[in-house]
Amino acid sequence: MAGDGSVKLIDEKTGKRTDGRKFNELRPTKIEVGVLNNADGSALIYMGNNKILAAVYGPRELHPKHLALPDRALVQCYYRMSTFSVAERKSPAPSRREREISKVISDALNSVILTKDFPRTTIDIYIQVLQADGGTRCASLTAACTALADAGIPMRGIISGVATGLVNDTVVLDLHDIEDQKGSGDIPIGYSATLDEISLLQLDGVFTIKQFEEAVKLAIEGAKQIYEIQKKALREKYALIRAEFAGESEEEEAEEEDTIEIVSQSLAESEASVDETAIDEVESEELEEKKTEEFSEVEEVSEVEEVSEVEEQDLVSDIAKELNDELDDEKELEEDITSLETGEPEKNNEAITDDSSESVENETEHKEIDDLEE
Ligand code: ADP
Repeated sequence: MAGDGSVKLIDEKTGKRTDGRKFNELRPTKIEVGVLNNADGSALIYMGNNKILAAVYGPRELHPKHLALPDRALVQCYYRMSTFSVAERKSPAPSRREREISKVISDALNSVILTKDFPRTTIDIYIQVLQADGGTRCASLTAACTALADAGIPMRGIISGVATGLVNDTVVLDLHDIEDQKGSGDIPIGYSATLDEISLLQLDGVFTIKQFEEAVKLAIEGAKQIYEIQKKALREKYALIRAEFAGESEEEEAEEEDTIEIVSQSLAESEASVDETAIDEVESEELEEKKTEEFSEVEEVSEVEEVSEVEEQDLVSDIAKELNDELDDEKELEEDITSLETGEPEKNNEAITDDSSESVENETEHKEIDDLEE
């Protein structure tokens, strides 16, 4: 709510405002994108002392279903101020002001979102003011639109929100809390730099047409600056993702190369071991053959030796037999001689039938005895 403008908020000499800014200067603004893991898109805006978080879910199924629009998505925005966002504890119950801000933000976003691409669905935008310092609806609109872009929701353009106001009869850009409370009027504006469209415009207080035109012009300049900050934040996030992907792909490539190297090494090793095994096998085969040859030679030799032993034994036995035979003959002859000398008949001779034959035999025997005695 605007004040009466009686409080001095601009230094007459320097033209500086209470926080040291010039009339056309934005508060230090920073946006972080993708700050929430569980949302489809998110953004955190720091605009002066404002800290506002926006989370986007959808397009997703709408409950209750009867609220679904047959030809387009329903954009639902929930602007809430945390109980700790202001100096005095704010009631957690949704206020009229919060419902009004939720509506103007969702209307502004509805104008750029391609809702017809997602019939019968809902796109839910949750805005939580963590710290309030004036101009929260505009900062919330900026954060919400950046979060929508982060969620990949198709839009005609990006909206940037900023308020201008009348402080000590001077049109100033981006009111902070004291200026908002004590100034004579404020104009929150939602502007798309790419479309050159105003999607949100509210006015509190009294402005001349000249002041109003000046205020709108100043707001558009400020919105353009904010749009650059939004773009930068989105680019930073996706540059990070690209870098991560590139890093991952580089890592994957390196891993693949390592794997290929390991596989090729193990292949080479296994090939070498196969060669060695083959060599070993050949060598062992040769060794086996050699052994077999040697063994067969040994066997042959042993066979020969065995044969010669057998032959030797046979020879010995033959000689022994011959000797025995000779001894037997000798014995017989001795007996014959003895019998001839004594004239006694031969013991073993059973019959002597013929005298002539006897004499011939005697003669032969005598001759033999003589030979032997010799
Ligand atoms: P905007 O924040 O968009 O300027 P308002 O003009 O309604 O919206 O509010 C101006 C500022 O007043 C807010 O930014 C906040 O700092 C403060 N304010 C709003 N509501 C409350 C509240 N319930 N209790 C304390 N301060 C509030």
